[in-house]
Amino acid sequence: MPIARGEGTWLYDVDGKRYLDAVSSWWVNLFGHNNPKIKDAIKQQLDTLEHVILAGFTHEPVVELSERLSKLTGLGHCFYASDGASATEIALKMSFHYWRNVGKAGKTKFISLQNSYHGETLGALSVTDVAIFKDTYAPLLIQSTQMPSPDWRLSEAGESAEAYALRCAAELEVYISEHHAELAALIVEPLIQCAAGMGMYHAIYLQRAREICTKYEVHLIADEIAVGFGRTGTMFAMEQAEVLPDFMCLSKGITGGYLPLSVTLTTDLIYQAFYDDSIARGFLHSHSYTGNPLACSAALATLDIFEQEQVLQSNRLKAQYLNTQLGKFVDLPIKHMRHRGMVWAFDTDYAPEKQVLFRQHFYTQALQSGLLLRPIGNTVYWMPPYTISEEEIDYMLTHTQAALQNFV
Ligand SMILES: *Cc1c(COP(=O)(O)O)cnc(C)c1O
Repeated sequence: MPIARGEGTWLYDVDGKRYLDAVSSWWVNLFGHNNPKIKDAIKQQLDTLEHVILAGFTHEPVVELSERLSKLTGLGHCFYASDGASATEIALKMSFHYWRNVGKAGKTKFISLQNSYHGETLGALSVTDVAIFKDTYAPLLIQSTQMPSPDWRLSEAGESAEAYALRCAAELEVYISEHHAELAALIVEPLIQCAAGMGMYHAIYLQRAREICTKYEVHLIADEIAVGFGRTGTMFAMEQAEVLPDFMCLSKGITGGYLPLSVTLTTDLIYQAFYDDSIARGFLHSHSYTGNPLACSAALATLDIFEQEQVLQSNRLKAQYLNTQLGKFVDLPIKHMRHRGMVWAFDTDYAPEKQVLFRQHFYTQALQSGLLLRPIGNTVYWMPPYTISEEEIDYMLTHTQAALQNFV
């Protein structure tokens, strides 16, 4: 599908036909296409400094961004890369190396959740649990172990989200209590396992995971690459559990969807274990474009918009509006309608043969009607830019409903 230009919530193809970008161009676009504020910030930076080596050198946009991210997350140090998978790699390597530096070299293994997604480079893929991405490369990967996912769809009938999350946390504790001597870190996607089909779970799981990880000296890595920057209703998903991770990975929305940038944040304690004259204790990991000034300027403009336009508050009103319109979604073969912040999802409930057809035709049908949806397996989701208007919400819902009805 050749796209010629974007404007706000819309993409325009080469023939001028428009499509509502209900997936925020793979979860990266927060404030619409052709956003004047972000565009102007990049243009200004382009006239000042496009790039400089970040080893031994620094520049204003990366310093300001680090200070602002540190204030927002409560984690004091930033390490930059250009994509989400690299942020995961950095967190894994830094956790492993930290334990070596503090004399606990036996702590080398990682655990993640069932159905997790943390990126597709070899380290990130090792803690990812999606068979279609992983199976081919299995011989190349490091071993990791998956813990029960607190995704509420996996609960017993009648079990509350909270009760199920606590049951999963209890199983996590059993595993960690037996294996902590060899465990470096637990990595999780806080509140929503997006690539698993928007699997949502109760914040109590994160609270318990934090307590367990602290008790048994295992790092907690929060992969907020998809859920950070307001997606779940708070700036960062971990805020809803009121606990701090040891590492936080951010990317996707960080530049408002303009340029590739990622960052791994960590604590003073972990930073201190690397700060030494001995090179072997240092974190020798680098990317050529680390801390790119243009990308940092887009990130700063994105943070400015959050501050100046009270985005989290206005998103709550948009979410309320969308929720009042969900009454339309009755008498359709769907289940598990769920919502958190600016993410909505439901699963289709067709017989298996029909489900196969659904996968082939629903996407095309929605696209033909001018709506970009990208179902994950049986899950249909909406994850629109925060600039979506009520009229555009109506359009998104009406066209989704029509595509479902046409299919029934
Ligand atoms: C997208 C994503 C990644 C990987 O980011 P890339 O920039 O695609 O490498 C990692 N973790 C989560 C939770 C993601 O959604």
